[in-house]
Amino acid sequence: RAKAQIGERICYYEPGMDEIARARRQLANDLRLAVERDELVLLYQPQCQLRSGQLSGYEALVRWHHPLHGLVSPAEFIPIAEESGAILQIGEWVLAQACREAATWHSHHRVAVNVSPVQLVQQDLAPMVGRVLTETGLSASRLELEITESAIITDKVRALNNLRQLKELGVAIAMDDFGTGYSSLDTLHSFPFDKIKIDKSFLLESDQNEQARAIIRAVLALGSSLRIPVLAEGVETASQFELLISEGCEEAQGYFLGRPDRAPSLKSESPDTVPETRAEAFA
Ligand code: C2E
Ligand code: MG
Ligand code: MG
Ligand code: MG
Repeated sequence: RAKAQIGERICYYEPGMDEIARARRQLANDLRLAVERDELVLLYQPQCQLRSGQLSGYEALVRWHHPLHGLVSPAEFIPIAEESGAILQIGEWVLAQACREAATWHSHHRVAVNVSPVQLVQQDLAPMVGRVLTETGLSASRLELEITESAIITDKVRALNNLRQLKELGVAIAMDDFGTGYSSLDTLHSFPFDKIKIDKSFLLESDQNEQARAIIRAVLALGSSLRIPVLAEGVETASQFELLISEGCEEAQGYFLGRPDRAPSLKSESPDTVPETRAEAFA
């Protein structure tokens, strides 16, 4: 066993792994400059009310155009930025950019912005958000911040204190990726969230898996008894869409309704309707 462990260790330091570590360090360095070099862009994915078919808002999702590697996904670079601390600068850029862009939309839809657990335990988060709202002129009621539970687990006192200050600013708070954390029920009990987003893994499996459907129903029942609206992410098919409607889910987001795309104001389509390709889904 000890031998095996030593073996694993030796394995771990083989040149291949070394190169991966070096590539990661290089990416971390590049990331530090990404904001200054204007390499980040935001795409917006529609969120729709299921009952009325109305568009309710957009989630801002960051993309990195790396000068050598091309498009890098946030799933890849956000964890690196969180580790290196670059997430603080990136997070502030994302927030300011999303608020600036949303302030120019003809429609007054809400914009949802992801906040990293690293940001959520910073003392100055709420003042920073307040300053960005003032500087961009976006009304606080049009901003929603999406957070995951991990921050609340890391430093519950500070995270909850920040969330309360953000609520006082008039910003809405959504619990993202619900169902994948460790203590979802305790977290829901600790803070009056404005929305629960069911993690997309449940919806993606719902076609084949009765257990995934049962979990979706349970989260909808929970939201309804706590009076917190539920949004389901990852709606890709008509049958998933039908399931949500028949189970009384309030909101949905997913490729079936619209993929992340350029800022609504940069597109010619009417910003007040569900992306026209899927409008018939609501007929
Ligand atoms: P998330 O906040 O849960 O965002 C939803 C992710 O699901 C997005 O991936 C979106 O493109 C994807 N998605 C939407 N509809 C569907 C669907 O129907 N099917 C499938 N399979 N996927 C769908 P994306 O843009 O790659 O972002 C991944 C994660 O990276 C986000 O998960 C979020 O945790 C993080 N992220 C993205 N932008 C930011 C940001 O500005 N700041 C921070 N801190 N994190 C971000
Ligand atoms: Mg999100
Ligand atoms: Mg999510
Ligand atoms: Mg996620």
